[in-house]
Amino acid sequence: MRNLLILILFISNFLLGQNPCGTDGYNKFYIDSNPKSYKNIENQLQDYLKITPKSTTNITIPVVFHVVWINNIQNLHDSVIYHQLEVLNSIFNSQNPDTVNLTDTLKRWVGDFNINFEIAHRDPNGFPTRGITRKKTFHPHFSYWNNPVKKLPYGVLPWPTDRYLNIWICDLNDGLNGYAQFPGGPEETDGIVVDWQTVGNQIYPWVSFENYEWAKGKVLVHEIGHWLNLYHPWGNDGSCTEDYIPETSFQNSPIFPHNNCPDTMFSSCSDSGRIFIKHYMDYSGSSCMCTFTKNQVLRGLASLNTYRIKMVENYLPKPIINGFENTKIYPTYVQDIIYIEFPIYEGIIEILIYNLQGRLMKQLITQNNHFETLNLSDLVNGIYVVNLLHNGKSVVNKKIIINN
Ligand SMILES: [Zn+2]
Repeated sequence: MRNLLILILFISNFLLGQNPCGTDGYNKFYIDSNPKSYKNIENQLQDYLKITPKSTTNITIPVVFHVVWINNIQNLHDSVIYHQLEVLNSIFNSQNPDTVNLTDTLKRWVGDFNINFEIAHRDPNGFPTRGITRKKTFHPHFSYWNNPVKKLPYGVLPWPTDRYLNIWICDLNDGLNGYAQFPGGPEETDGIVVDWQTVGNQIYPWVSFENYEWAKGKVLVHEIGHWLNLYHPWGNDGSCTEDYIPETSFQNSPIFPHNNCPDTMFSSCSDSGRIFIKHYMDYSGSSCMCTFTKNQVLRGLASLNTYRIKMVENYLPKPIINGFENTKIYPTYVQDIIYIEFPIYEGIIEILIYNLQGRLMKQLITQNNHFETLNLSDLVNGIYVVNLLHNGKSVVNKKIIINN
């Protein structure tokens, strides 16, 4: 019954002409207003593909997320956003386990971007940041028309778009999951917008039933594809038009989840080739899309190395900080709660409490956080050692005295 409902929902979306991705509609205005500029960008990209070695490695893209919310539930916790980042890094390094859905026939077409997305660690003024901005808005549902989420008073202005990939998370109009700006649009609106329900790595309790296939973070993967100048396989100018990717063949229209995720289908365009379904630039849903193709990767990397080269060149690696000397563990005489503040929030911190015989009495693991509490009221009075591990390496030891 549930499958039937999903089927009806997706068929009705399709028949009503609803489009989960607004990228083509959003960019049409800019492309039509300045076709020559877009043609130049495409020519540069094609020239790069002709003359440059085909593999590029070690590109890191700094990312800032702007959470624009109207109801508390839309103000997603940092951990959901970090999970989204994990999805990106897994997929853009071909480490996502769902590539098992690819048969041997398709495996030869799999491409690996080998790029990393890093949450911004410095804001535009050089100050340390967690790479997430938050704003309560009074705008109920955003559309791509006029970009209100990227502007004041309802949205948030981007950080410099030649240094950061700006990603806005907000409540988009029903049926719209995201949109991206192709290379060539105005600098002040460059970036990606995704609906809050699509963010993260799982189907959270707040995801509505009709969004189940668009949860788990893959909408952002699709939109980053567009940001890297990848088109839908049916082209960005109507059906059966060029996407510059030979292996996806010409395609008439999107493949939605109700098509059951076959390896390939016959194209209904005049070339009647086989179309490839399981890549991120179609609409086949989170349970089907699981790879970029080789030529999608080459095209995306060419775009990074031409139009978006400043972002690649401007990237500054995260400074190596041995900042645990400022860690605070208090009080020394503990009655029940101990407080631990550490200045580094990236990575995994393990807080371990040992007795003087070296026996582990308490353990707490935290990630991407810089404040924790532990209740020690169930330990007998005596001297204990608090030991902090950062990514498995011991960084702090402090003696405490429990005196309940
Ligand atoms: Zn799209």
